[in-house]
Formats: sequence, C-alpha cells, structure tokens
Amino acid sequence: MTRTTPPRAVDVAAACPALAPLARPATRLHPRSGTPSVYDSSIGGPLLWPTDEPWPHCHGPHDWNFLTDAWNPHGLNPLQSLADAKLTRHNPVPWRRTADVPNAMLPVAQLYTRDVPGLRPPPGKDLLQILWCPLDNADAMPETALVWRTAADVTDILNTPPMPATVDYGYSYIPLPCTVESERIIEYPSDFEKLGSEPLEQMRQWASRQQTGIDPDDIKSWFKDNICVAPGWKVGGHIQWGTTDPFPQPCPTCGTETEPLLTVASCEWDGGTHSWIPYEDQALADDYSTTIGPDVTIARGYKMILRVCPTSPDHPHVQLMQ
Ligand SMILES: [Zn+2]
Ligand SMILES: [Zn+2]
Repeated sequence: MTRTTPPRAVDVAAACPALAPLARPATRLHPRSGTPSVYDSSIGGPLLWPTDEPWPHCHGPHDWNFLTDAWNPHGLNPLQSLADAKLTRHNPVPWRRTADVPNAMLPVAQLYTRDVPGLRPPPGKDLLQILWCPLDNADAMPETALVWRTAADVTDILNTPPMPATVDYGYSYIPLPCTVESERIIEYPSDFEKLGSEPLEQMRQWASRQQTGIDPDDIKSWFKDNICVAPGWKVGGHIQWGTTDPFPQPCPTCGTETEPLLTVASCEWDGGTHSWIPYEDQALADDYSTTIGPDVTIARGYKMILRVCPTSPDHPHVQLMQ
C-alpha cells in the first residue's frame, strides 16, 4: 500500500529562504505489520543471510535480562517466537545476570536499494542489513551491526538464525515484523541556533504576514514539528535534536562529521506531529504508539539514529539517541 505524506503548510523557499539551501532528502519507511520474506525490504523481518557467514553476536557487557531459552523449545524461527512472546507478554523464566553470554543479534532492518532511495551503497552492493543486540549497551542503546551485501551472491540462505540468549525485560528491542513502503520527502535542519538569527527572523515574519495565528514564541517549535523533520522510521534526512543540544559526532576513523543513515523511532507520529500522518493512516491518528509499526521503544520513547561517514562505507558507524 502506497503511503503519502500531506504537503507541508509552508513553501520553505518563500517563507524562510535561509533554510532552503539546507534541504536534504529523506526516505520515510512507513513500516507496518506484515509478513515480509527474505526477498522483501523489512523492519524486524527475516534477513537474506548466507549459511556460510557467521551470525553477528554481541559480547556485552550486559545487565539483568530475560532468558529466552524457554520461549522457543522446538527451535522455530526466533523472529516468530520472539514476536509471539512480545505480543502475549509471555512471562519468561527468571531474570539472570547475562554479562558473559554472547547474545545473537536480531534483525532490525533489511533494505534493498531498489526499494529505498538514498541509501548510498558501496560499489556493487544492493542490500543493507542492520541487526542489534536486544539489550542496552553502556550508552543505554542496543549495540548495532551494519552489513552491506550483494543480494545475488546469497544462494544458500540461512533459514533459522540463532535465537538471542536474552532480551531486555521490557520487550523494547524486539521489532514486530513489518513491511516497508518508501516515500521520498524533503527535510530541513531544525537546530536553528546553529544557523544564526536569520531563519528564525524569517519564520516570524512569515507567521505575521500570513496571519497564521501561531504565537511568535512558538514559531520555532512549530517549524521543527511541522516543516523541518518528519517523525518515524526513515533513511537520511535531518536529525530532530531535542533530548540534547546538537553536538558533533565525527567519524572515529577520519574525523569527518557523520550523517544520518537510519532513524529508529519509538512511534510513527505523536501528538505534536500529526501533520505528517499519511493520508492512508489518518483514521489511526490516535493509535500511534502500539498498533502500527514495529513497536520498539528507545529509552522512554526517543529515537536512535545510526550515523555513517560520508567519505567511506568502510568506516565504523556511530549511534545517537534523541
Ligand atoms: Zn549486547
Ligand atoms: Zn570516516
């Protein structure tokens, strides 16, 4: 099903020319519950993974967490048994300190370049796979792994990947399987402070010219929420700062400032971002939290942004929580 974001209420080039040159494309993924296969782009779906390649594991350190061995006694596909456990809030065996257990990572995203514009693959690669350890790392985020591959090279497919030994006790990092439906949009930076006084002044002038009724003191947050940065899962675009002030995150290898690759969101929209709800989902406007999408929760409802170095796909990615 196609999903279409309603047009923005402002022509940025006319209303705020200081922002216009900073436009950057983003691809909204619109993940929705489904049954993706290894040949589909997905969130929380099965990966096209070769049998002869080791599955990524995380070595912690970890804290107290649920053990999952009781959840999958018959060795079924772990994605299904984990999703079932989450949906039924299955009460597992007691928690255990899991510092020393290597934990099999879980699929988070599988994105084929044919489906998702803006991915910037290394030469010859056409499939991005992102996995995470479904536990908090030292920064209170799941540890992630990024793999680029050539889909046509995978002939012997791993049908049953290993089950994570443990997951967080809130089920926060078990994404429910979703198909994705890409939509290209344009975003603008929302860290206006970094851009001097001009953008804000232009926004205020636009608001009074148009008699929008928006309080001049609120114009900044109104632009942030409604014009600059889309909510939800997406590729590329700009970062919605807010949990912290903006800070640099240079590439650990070469020092170049990293750029957003994937935004993992705790919801597809919230009370402040209703204007971004696709036409097709507007009947669900009040159900943003749990009934659609992968239903992952980063901290208490934040986002996690995976950032990559623009100079080389071989340089390690970094993570940000906002
Ligand atoms: Zn871990
Ligand atoms: Zn670099």
